[in-house]
Amino acid sequence: MPELPEVETIKRTLEARIKGLSVVSAEIFLPKLIRMPGVEEFKALLTGRKFLSLERRGKYLLLRLSHGLVMVIHLRMTGRLVYLPASADMAPHTHLIINLDDGCQMRYSDIRRFGTVSLVPASELDKLSGLRSLGKEPFDREFTRGYLLKQLHSHRVILKTLLLDQSFIAGLGNIYADEVLFRARIHPQQRSNMLTQRQSARLFHAIREVLTEGIENRGTTLRDYVDGEGMAGNYQNLLKVHNRENQPCSVCSTNIVRLRISGRSTYFCPYCQRM
Ligand SMILES: [Zn+2]
Repeated sequence: MPELPEVETIKRTLEARIKGLSVVSAEIFLPKLIRMPGVEEFKALLTGRKFLSLERRGKYLLLRLSHGLVMVIHLRMTGRLVYLPASADMAPHTHLIINLDDGCQMRYSDIRRFGTVSLVPASELDKLSGLRSLGKEPFDREFTRGYLLKQLHSHRVILKTLLLDQSFIAGLGNIYADEVLFRARIHPQQRSNMLTQRQSARLFHAIREVLTEGIENRGTTLRDYVDGEGMAGNYQNLLKVHNRENQPCSVCSTNIVRLRISGRSTYFCPYCQRM
């Protein structure tokens, strides 16, 4: 699933391509993709609007349009949003095509079909429950060491589970949560309220460092993810623990272990991340 670094990379690559362009028309092949409004209203509202700017919030992509409209996209498991010439081959599972006034298209494809697209007035963004309940952004000024420590101690949840909770911190997913915990040398099953101040400080810095490196390397492509121009990321080559079961830890050479936590595969070094 695309996480903060992947969605941020899509935002940056798409913005360079579509900012200032207007929508000529939209074609929808999977009605359930459009969460709100209805499909016909979506097409009518979108036509003629200009893309003004793009933003990211957690794993959501927000495309701001003229007339105060915002297109909100969540890629879920396998969604891809790519800018292409209209003549480019159509990828399988293409569910939405937006024809742009430079003759190119923005296409949404999704093998698993869990992604969502909404078009709402900026004043009604709060109607989207997933967006409304998001926690703080890891790069927000208000996200401080003190804030994180307080939040950790107000929960009694296994750390890996808490890091995946989007209402706790926005944007972390399975890959980066594993990498963050390795960087911070904390066991994924440690309870959040048991963390020391020192561990919490390490966790704070690890979150920012790992996400920054993920963005600098244009995201992680293990399977489906590509950026807004169809390019794979590079961070999969730099992963220290995620997806590396039975491979030696880069620090201590102990083999990386895989555990299931909350139904998700979790990878960690049993020596570097002792309980
Ligand atoms: Zn190790």
